[in-house]
Amino acid sequence: MIYLDYSATTPVSYEVFDTISKVTKEFIGNANSLHALGLKSSNLLESATKQIAEIFNINTSEIVYTSGATEANNMALIGTAMAHHKKGKHIIVSKLEHPSIYAICDYLKSIGFEISYVNNDADGLIDFDDLKRKIRDDTILVSICAVNSETGIRQPLKIIRQIIKKENVATIFHSDVTQAMGKVPVNFHDVDLASMSAHKIFGPKGIGFLYKSSMVKITPIKYGSGKTNELNPGTPPLPLIAALSKAIRISQTDLEKRERFVNLLNEKIVASLEKYPNILINKTKYSIPQILNISIMDVMPEVMLHALDKYEVYLSTNTACASGEVSHSVMAIYNDLKRAKHTLRISLSYVTTTEEVNKFIKIFGEVYDSLKSKKEVI
Ligand code: PMP
Repeated sequence: MIYLDYSATTPVSYEVFDTISKVTKEFIGNANSLHALGLKSSNLLESATKQIAEIFNINTSEIVYTSGATEANNMALIGTAMAHHKKGKHIIVSKLEHPSIYAICDYLKSIGFEISYVNNDADGLIDFDDLKRKIRDDTILVSICAVNSETGIRQPLKIIRQIIKKENVATIFHSDVTQAMGKVPVNFHDVDLASMSAHKIFGPKGIGFLYKSSMVKITPIKYGSGKTNELNPGTPPLPLIAALSKAIRISQTDLEKRERFVNLLNEKIVASLEKYPNILINKTKYSIPQILNISIMDVMPEVMLHALDKYEVYLSTNTACASGEVSHSVMAIYNDLKRAKHTLRISLSYVTTTEEVNKFIKIFGEVYDSLKSKKEVI
């Protein structure tokens, strides 16, 4: 098997799996319970949270566990809208967001909020002047993805924050950092709110967190009981939280070295595709190497994907969350509908081997050569 879909999800690492297993067996108490078993669990919860907080130099109270980035995005956007609607109903997002952000924006629009879409330049970078122009007195929130899930375009969050706060100091800045985590450095001090999912960094599915700066107020979108978290009440999923903490710790080691290695793999694949005039590389100077997006103009991407499936080579058309649709991110950068309809996303990881990439290049070439001659696959 050659798995090149690490941006859709990653397998759980052995170390993380051990943590899940150990905590499940040894920490049976509810962290909200007052007895000794409850205390044992709540101590572990506290130390797991402390470890995450220390890594990112944030406070433990700024970490809100969620079921993943989708829930964190909901809490951030809807929670901000509910808390600040009296100040304004204007929200700005980029054209390079994850589908979950657009779905939440559609909901907010249906209840009276106004959504503006900030432009980007030909390399995918946010158009700073357009952002400046769009921020108004009633702009309560700007949400811009740290790394786009389809093309890997990375945005400079620090600069974007400075622009936002200069125009309107009360505007809250949220970033979906799901695809940045474990791939490139993330500084939570660049944002007010941020969302992530553990399963993109070799952690389990069903856990993530919302970073919420202690300086910002959001309204809870969930109600219930339990003392551990007022924004996300209920029994904390301790094995998942401990696993998240472990996965984060592992993901933050040797970031630069891992990125350099993945860059070599990325360049190897790009070089191998340059001989095909009908394969376009959707990569700009802002793309991170872990996500490589291409457009195969003379073969439908689903046909290519299924043909590769037979060789146990796994990748995505655009994202797992928007499979089969036009890539709105490629559209936002290249403004070419055919190019946006023909995308394949090859997502790499530091665990990808050179041998896997060599094999992939060979299989990809054979499959593509056999398909491109068939008219019906265009
Ligand atoms: N945001 C981004 C940028 C993502 O890549 C994903 C996962 N594809 C999500 C949000 C949603 O994450 P989850 O499915 O874990 O809620």
